[in-house]
Amino acid sequence: MSGIRFAPSPTGRFHLGNLRTAWISWRWARALGEPWVLRFEDIDRPRVAPGARELQLADLRRLGLESRAGDERHLQSEREERHWELLLRAWHEGRVYPCSCSRKEVLDDLRTAASAPHGEPPLYGGRCREPSRRPVPTHPTLAWRFRGEDPGGARDFIVARSAARPGSKRELEGPPDRGSFAPAYHWACAIDDHDGGYALLVRAWDLAHAVPHQRAIHEWVCASTGSGNPYPAVFHTSLLTSDSGGRLEKRTRGVTLPELEAAGLSPSEILERFERSFELDAASYSPGKIWGEARETITLGELGFGRC
Ligand SMILES: [Zn+2]
Repeated sequence: MSGIRFAPSPTGRFHLGNLRTAWISWRWARALGEPWVLRFEDIDRPRVAPGARELQLADLRRLGLESRAGDERHLQSEREERHWELLLRAWHEGRVYPCSCSRKEVLDDLRTAASAPHGEPPLYGGRCREPSRRPVPTHPTLAWRFRGEDPGGARDFIVARSAARPGSKRELEGPPDRGSFAPAYHWACAIDDHDGGYALLVRAWDLAHAVPHQRAIHEWVCASTGSGNPYPAVFHTSLLTSDSGGRLEKRTRGVTLPELEAAGLSPSEILERFERSFELDAASYSPGKIWGEARETITLGELGFGRC
């Protein structure tokens, strides 16, 4: 178990929220004396922006988040073969199955489904668990769902996609197609976190919903491959929002490092604001713990980046 993992998507320049989470992950690495692991999650190819990773790394350096010997950098796309091998293994074990439902079919099933245990709303009606009930695909993409514990399939979530021929059931009968295979976020993330054997993952509170899905995949990888890697601890950072509570987006102005510097803020002044908002308590870490900052969201104004 080693490494503090931060996993940005190279889809554009970092905004302040990304920078703050990166800084917190770096602080954890230095506080615990662990390697700082940056994993660029570049598998969502249409969203990856050329040059974004280099700009993200430049921003981290500019903020003083220097790497040192033992730190790691990875590109998620370089692990596609591993993501594929495990999907095929899961298919052979009957742990994943093809879902050919259209969006409308999923929604129609949910309207008629009884509510799931624990009072949570179901995410899926479970139709494609039974091969005989799988609809003939009406669109060119097939989803592969991971079979969960719930007998109705309410939480069987999507772990990959591959191509299908509308009007044909052929792709429903065999293994996933290698050529068109595209892992979903939870699948790639959970496998890479499993294989990395990290001590701690650092990400914002808006990804807290990912833990049950990724833990389920992690436990399956352990059981299927005989690995003994325990599930890493996860520290959630406050999600930074605009002063009106909206998410920071690419079109949000004034929240990238160059924009802040152009407005007269130095990197050290930015770090001072981060430091005022976050106190690291190294003793709060323990292996496998799921926790985070007390506040799930924080606004730019509260962080000291109020607009003039
Ligand atoms: Zn389905």
